[in-house]
Amino acid sequence: MVFENPVVKEILEKYRVIWALNHAGALMGWDSQTYMPEKGVVERAIARAEISVLVQQLMLRDEFVSLVERAKSIEGLNEYESGVVRVLDRAISIYKKIPPRLVHEIAKTSQEAQKVWVKAKEKSDYNMFKPYLSKIVKLAREVADHLGYEDHPYNALLDLYEEGLRISDVDSIFDKLIPESKRILDKVLSEERYPRRHELEDLEYKVDIMKEVNKRILDLLEFPWDRARLDVSPHPFTTHMGIDDVRITTRYEGRDFRRSMYAVIHEYGHALYELQIDPNLRATPIASGASLGIHESQSRFWENIVGRSMPFTIKIKSILDNILGFTRKYSTEDLYRYFNIVRPSLIRVDSDELTYNFHIYLRYTIEKDLIAGEINVDDLPEIWNETMEKLLGVRPKRDSEGVLQDIHWSGGSIGYFPTYTLGNVIAAQIKARIEQDLNKLDELILEDRFSDLRNYLREKIHKWGSTFAPKDLLVRSIGEQMNPEYLVAYFEQKYLKHRV
Ligand code: MG
Repeated sequence: MVFENPVVKEILEKYRVIWALNHAGALMGWDSQTYMPEKGVVERAIARAEISVLVQQLMLRDEFVSLVERAKSIEGLNEYESGVVRVLDRAISIYKKIPPRLVHEIAKTSQEAQKVWVKAKEKSDYNMFKPYLSKIVKLAREVADHLGYEDHPYNALLDLYEEGLRISDVDSIFDKLIPESKRILDKVLSEERYPRRHELEDLEYKVDIMKEVNKRILDLLEFPWDRARLDVSPHPFTTHMGIDDVRITTRYEGRDFRRSMYAVIHEYGHALYELQIDPNLRATPIASGASLGIHESQSRFWENIVGRSMPFTIKIKSILDNILGFTRKYSTEDLYRYFNIVRPSLIRVDSDELTYNFHIYLRYTIEKDLIAGEINVDDLPEIWNETMEKLLGVRPKRDSEGVLQDIHWSGGSIGYFPTYTLGNVIAAQIKARIEQDLNKLDELILEDRFSDLRNYLREKIHKWGSTFAPKDLLVRSIGEQMNPEYLVAYFEQKYLKHRV
């Protein structure tokens, strides 16, 4: 048995109802983005808000809190038991520190802000959104003050999204990653090593046919259809109701088929993480991925490092040729070039793996300065456009393709963006570790050894759920802290050494 300590066992018993509510909440969240009729949104919002209040109340029940307190002082808990205590203690302390008034105000503000943001983006009118953003920044700052921090209020927000993450960690990643990526990018662009455009971007597909392509690619990856589903939503996402019920989505825009396909492979990476958690952890607080950053490392690993490689292109060529058909007249090399277009773009979600982190860096510096009060929301469009031009040589003409493009801030999420780059950095570290422990990744893919890859990820990362804090999990699984050098080396190898 993984859980033996009687106090921890009692905690887990009492936790089950919280788990059940979260299970219901996840299902409602999935439904609202997939099959719910449009007008269901009002009642669904009420129901979900009530459930999250209930979860908070149950977490803060005196007897539950004191059980967790008691467990904290017990010596000799095994690592799973300690994980349960760590995760619950962290959640309780966050709930306790942030007053319900503030939680309520954030929920209310972001609900309004999201509506306004949609309109502001449509009209490309930053002034419409500005007062809401200003309020959201003020509320985020209040959250930081309530949580407490060392050195900089943004540290509190980083930690909220990624346990233990600090500005110094993020700075040490970007200080290396940005100049090195810039050097590689400049060379790729000036020597035209990878295309900036490809005619396949314009080719249209039929949705039903593309659905079949996606299904066959998931088959290749041995997606367990009896434990997981693929559906359609405007913004692809993954959610899990449990270890044996994981849902992913993708979108079908009718052209540029790689967008739909890579969304599937990305979400597959997220799904695999949840599917490979040790079943003994079922219905406990540690039965989900360790953090946003670690989660994103799994999706990026499959999407970019596996999915956009030459061997994977070779693997899927016949699926594409047989089902889509129009790929037949393109060589494997040409498909590979289409999958790996490098084009400095204004829009984060459209950017390639080489330019993606510049977008995150831009948002990171803005968020950090906003929270510290060093810059003002009035100046954001100008700061955004200037920085974008400096970083990638492109300048937005409208705020809809600049400061208004992301949904995150309108939803109250400040401090979230850096976890995307963490994912990219960690994915490259995992690749390096796999090559040290198993074999060259290219070989593994060519030999269809996807099950070896899955087993490796399960043993090193997935099976633990959130037993360990993300930083501890990394040291344990790959023997090192976050280190951007592996991502730089991967870019160097792929974009400069490898000839296409
Ligand atoms: Mg993701």
